[in-house]
Amino acid sequence: MAQFFDVETLEARQCLDITHTVGELVRDSGVRRGLCHVMVLGATAAIVVNENDDPAIGLDLLKALEKAVPDHDGWLHDRVDNNAHAHIKASILGPSETVIVDEGELLLGTWQGLMLVELDGPRRRRRIAVEVVPSGS
Ligand code: ZN
Repeated sequence: MAQFFDVETLEARQCLDITHTVGELVRDSGVRRGLCHVMVLGATAAIVVNENDDPAIGLDLLKALEKAVPDHDGWLHDRVDNNAHAHIKASILGPSETVIVDEGELLLGTWQGLMLVELDGPRRRRRIAVEVVPSGS
């Protein structure tokens, strides 16, 4: 059964480390070996795995996305609610990640973390779903 938690974002574009919260849900699940799927329930945010030690990485990611997908560059969806750039960036990054669970913990590299990427904030509530699935063998 999926578990949920909410994150408040404070900036229009922002990377937020959610590794600790997801790791606690994995521990609470009691699953020792399996997969953890993490998905943001929103079309203008994304989940990525990236370095969570140097905050400049997140800023650089956001800057690179700005260069690749400029705001209000003739996007058709801007006629609806003026946030086409956020939908496009969210589609490029993807809404979810799956991380191996090993010995009851997220299996991540030394500097890797799970990041929520806000692309159309600030939002009082970004809802994130987490499903921890035990290994079949
Ligand atoms: Zn929209």
